[in-house]
Amino acid sequence: MTAEHPHALLGAYALDALGRADRAQFTAHLEACTLCQAELAEFRETARRFGEVERPSD
Ligand SMILES: [Zn+2]
Repeated sequence: MTAEHPHALLGAYALDALGRADRAQFTAHLEACTLCQAELAEFRETARRFGEVERPSD
């Protein structure tokens, strides 16, 4: 089991789909982990692009 980077929570966190406990755990890790901060930013950018493709501006 790898507990160093809770990347399994990253996607759900980016989509605001985490429970309170998981979000608190991930947030605490995120504050100390630039790697996950970068991954989160990248994930959000990707998700935003997909959103733009699926939902053209109206
Ligand atoms: Zn991390």
